[in-house]
Amino acid sequence: MIRRDFGSQWAVAACAAYFSTVLNISFWRFVLSRLDFSKAGTAVFAMSMPIVLFLVFYAAFSLLVWPCVAKPLMAVLLVISSAACYFMFKLNVIIDSEMIRNVFEARPHEVFEMVTVGGVLWVAFLGVVPATAFFFIRIRYRAIHRELLGRIVYVAGSLFLLIVLAFVFFKDYAAAGRNNKMAGKFLNPFNYITSTLSYLRKQARRDLPFVVIDETPEHVPYEDPCLTVVVLVIGETARAMNFSLNGYGRETNPKLSGQDIVNFPRVMASGTATAFSLPCMFSPLGRKDFDIDLSYRSENLLDIVQKAGYDVVWLDNQGSSKGVADRVTTVDLMNEGNNKFRNGDTFFDEVLLDGLEGRIANLKKDTVIVLHMMGSHGPSYYRRYPNEFRVFTPTCDTAEIQNYPREEIVNAYDNTILYTDHVVSGVIDILKRFPQHEAGMIFISDHGESLGENGLYLHGIPYSIAPIEQIHVPMVLWMSETMRREDYVDYEGLKNGAGEMELSHDHFFHSILGLVEIDTELYDPALDLFGKFRSKDLPNGRGVKR
Ligand SMILES: [Zn+2]
Repeated sequence: MIRRDFGSQWAVAACAAYFSTVLNISFWRFVLSRLDFSKAGTAVFAMSMPIVLFLVFYAAFSLLVWPCVAKPLMAVLLVISSAACYFMFKLNVIIDSEMIRNVFEARPHEVFEMVTVGGVLWVAFLGVVPATAFFFIRIRYRAIHRELLGRIVYVAGSLFLLIVLAFVFFKDYAAAGRNNKMAGKFLNPFNYITSTLSYLRKQARRDLPFVVIDETPEHVPYEDPCLTVVVLVIGETARAMNFSLNGYGRETNPKLSGQDIVNFPRVMASGTATAFSLPCMFSPLGRKDFDIDLSYRSENLLDIVQKAGYDVVWLDNQGSSKGVADRVTTVDLMNEGNNKFRNGDTFFDEVLLDGLEGRIANLKKDTVIVLHMMGSHGPSYYRRYPNEFRVFTPTCDTAEIQNYPREEIVNAYDNTILYTDHVVSGVIDILKRFPQHEAGMIFISDHGESLGENGLYLHGIPYSIAPIEQIHVPMVLWMSETMRREDYVDYEGLKNGAGEMELSHDHFFHSILGLVEIDTELYDPALDLFGKFRSKDLPNGRGVKR
C-alpha cells in the first residue's frame, strides 16, 4: 500500500526534488556541457549544484505549500513547467520575454500547430500524472503556530546552507554565472515566470504616454559667429584609479597628458552598470530620482539639444544607446563600421574616429556628436585593443579571468586604458584642425570595474554597497581657444580648480546644457561645473556667476 499522507515539509521536499531534477533536465544539459571537467575541483563544484538548486526550490516552495492553495498552485506549476520542459528539451527553445511575447501574441492556429502527440504524452507523464498524484496525497499540516515556526526554521536552514555553499564556491559560481548568462534562461520555472513579468512590464511601459520634459528649449548663445561642435565621448568600464592623470603608477595616459586638457580626478558614476548609468547621465532626474523604465519613454539631454536647433549624432561602437539616442541620428558602427578596425565580431574604438574629421568639416550648423565607446568592456579585456597597445605584459588572454593571476588581468585592463587614451586624444587632435570652431570635448566613463579586489570582478554591484573601483570614473575636458574665449570660460582657473571639485554624473546634464548655451527650465546652475569659471553670465541670465 502506497503511503498517502505526508508531513508538509516532506511534501515541500518532494516538489523541490522533482523540480530540481526532472523538470530541469534542459538546465542540467546546458550547465554540465559547459563545465570543464579536466580542471581540478570542477567535479566537486558540479556536485554542489544540485544541492544548491534543491535548496532554492525548497525555500521557494516552503512559501507556497499551504492548505487550500498548495494543490491547485502546484498542479498549474507542474503542467506549465512540464510543457516548458518539453519545448526546451526537445525543441531547444529559449524562454525569454520575447518568446513569451510570441506566446501571448500567437494566433490560435499557431498554437494548435505546436501541439504534437509527443508533446501531449510528455506533458501527461511529467506534468499531469505528478499533479494528479499530488492532488490525491494528504498533506499533514501542524497547528498554525507550529507550522509557521517549522517553516521558518527549515527555510532559515536552507538559506544558511546556501550561504555556506555560495561562500565556499564563490569564485566558481561567480565565474559560471558570468560566462553562462544563458543558464538562467533554462531554469524552469523561474525562466518563464520572470520572462512573463518582464513581458508584462514592457507592455505596461509601452502603453504609458511619452514624457516631454521641455516643450520649448531655446538656444540663446553669446554673440559670436562661430560654429559650435561639442563631442561627448562616453567611455565604457574605465575606472579613474588606473588613469595616470589621476596618479596611477603606470603611464596609461601618455597622449592625453600631452594635450591641453582639464582632468577631473573626483567624479562619481551614477550607477555600476551601463543600463542604469548611461541613460541616467542624459536624464535631468539625477541618480536618486532616476527611473530606467521612465527614461525609455521620456526625453533626455539629446532631445533638448536637438529641439533647441542643434544637429545631434550618436555614433555607437557598443551596440546600444540604452534608449538615449532613440530620437536622434544614430550610426551603428558595429554594423556599418570600417572593416579596417574590425576585430572578430567587434570593432576597435578607433572606428569612432574614422570619418570624424570629414563629418566636422561638412557641418552646416551647431552640432553635438556623441561617441559611445567599447572602451574596457570585460571580461575579454585582451580583445579591446590592437596589438601595438599590448604594452603591459603578460596579459590574461581569456574571458575566464578569475583563473589567472591578478597581475595579468590588470595588465590587459591597463592596455585597454592605454588604448582609450589614444582614442580620446585622437578626438582632440581632430578637433584641433578646426581652430575657427567653438570646439569642445568631454570624455567621461559610465562606471568603473573591479579587477579582483576583494574577490570581485567586473561591475554591477548594487550602488549602495559598490566598491569605489566600480563608481569612481575618469573625466577629461578639452576646449579650443575659440570656445574658451567666446564662452568666457576661465580655462586656467578650471584647470587649477578641477582637483578640488567633487563631481558626479549628475553634473553632466546641466554642464552640457550650459556649454551649448541652451535656455531651459531644466537647467540647474548649481550642477553646472563651468558656473563659477565663466567670467560673464550665460546670455539667458541663468548661468549665475558664483
Ligand atoms: Zn558600461
